[in-house]
Amino acid sequence: MQQYDTIIIGMGPAGLSTAIYTSRAKLKTLVLGAKEKSQLWKAHSIENYFGIDSVQGKDLLETGIKQAKRFGSEIIEAEVVNIKQKEKEFIVKIASGKEFHTKTIVFATGIPIKLSGIKNEEKFTGKGVHYCVVCDGFFYKDKKVAVIGNANYAAEQAIELLTYTKDVTIISNGKEFQFDKKYKDALDKNKINLIPNKIISFEGEKKLEKLKTTTGELEFDGVYIGIGSAGAGSFAKKFGIETKGDAIVTDKEGKTNMKGIYAAGICTGIVSQAASSVGEGCVAAMSVIKQLKEKEMYVDYGSKNS
Ligand SMILES: Cc1cc2nc3c(=O)[nH]c(=O)nc-3n(C[C@H](O)[C@H](O)[C@H](O)COP(=O)(O)OP(=O)(O)OC[C@H]3O[C@@H](n4cnc5c(N)ncnc54)[C@H](O)[C@@H]3O)c2cc1C
Repeated sequence: MQQYDTIIIGMGPAGLSTAIYTSRAKLKTLVLGAKEKSQLWKAHSIENYFGIDSVQGKDLLETGIKQAKRFGSEIIEAEVVNIKQKEKEFIVKIASGKEFHTKTIVFATGIPIKLSGIKNEEKFTGKGVHYCVVCDGFFYKDKKVAVIGNANYAAEQAIELLTYTKDVTIISNGKEFQFDKKYKDALDKNKINLIPNKIISFEGEKKLEKLKTTTGELEFDGVYIGIGSAGAGSFAKKFGIETKGDAIVTDKEGKTNMKGIYAAGICTGIVSQAASSVGEGCVAAMSVIKQLKEKEMYVDYGSKNS
């Protein structure tokens, strides 16, 4: 049975930032998650992160993973399926059935991508209906594709699709388009079509062939759902952690209602930005360090003088 000081659930900016602090403070740290499931992985380019002019989300994430490893964090690509409490420790179980023991847990689980709720969505998932251009955009090389969504996330997906095909349309599904200027300019420059049709259903035989809309049928080889994210927290809720809506409730120090359980990043309901998730990761890590080192004040345990 493997014993850790802290297990961080989530391999995005919040989880990795936490890991950098805790492992640098010589706490035995394990990060569980999937880098491809971090929202940052999907971010085409980040231009508003302090100190960095422009960077691809993926590259920033890979650098964070390397940095956490350099300080001694163990990183395992795995999905956590259960958590149990046994006396003063927690047992974290991953999908393979393997279990890890830990004194503290930090939830940095982000928020899942939202389903569209359009009729036949499930039937055609993976057969013409997709959620991640980075993961399966290559299926649509030189094909006719659409992104369903009305805001920046849809724009990111559409721009990413240009790597594979020039025939890209964004369908707002009856909503008003709301793009930041940066995205709108990129959409115009790349001649991405914007149409407002309200979609009734996905149609096809074995795979998606067309979209039935209130104003007629539209043929596409594939569509990507780009309607951003819905709240998370159901996993935490099951374990007894207080949630509000879908967000995990924390205090200013990243503490939840359960001793030894912390949360950081967009799973706590903050604005979705890499910088804010990194900040919350830092705060949660300091609380973990104070708890485990039994200190009132945070000390930089990574420094040579500590
Ligand atoms: C298209 C797009 C463009 C963006 N552009 C910008 C931008 O320009 N600037 C900016 O600052 N931000 C941008 N963002 C937002 C930014 O990427 C997110 O705010 C940030 O990634 C949130 O970090 P997080 O660590 O809280 O969650 P995430 O990065 O989403 O990470 C969540 C992690 O939790 C893991 N996880 C969830 N459940 C489990 C489980 N049961 N077991 C194990 N692991 C689990 C996932 O695998 C994942 O690793 C963009 C996002 C998108 C989608």
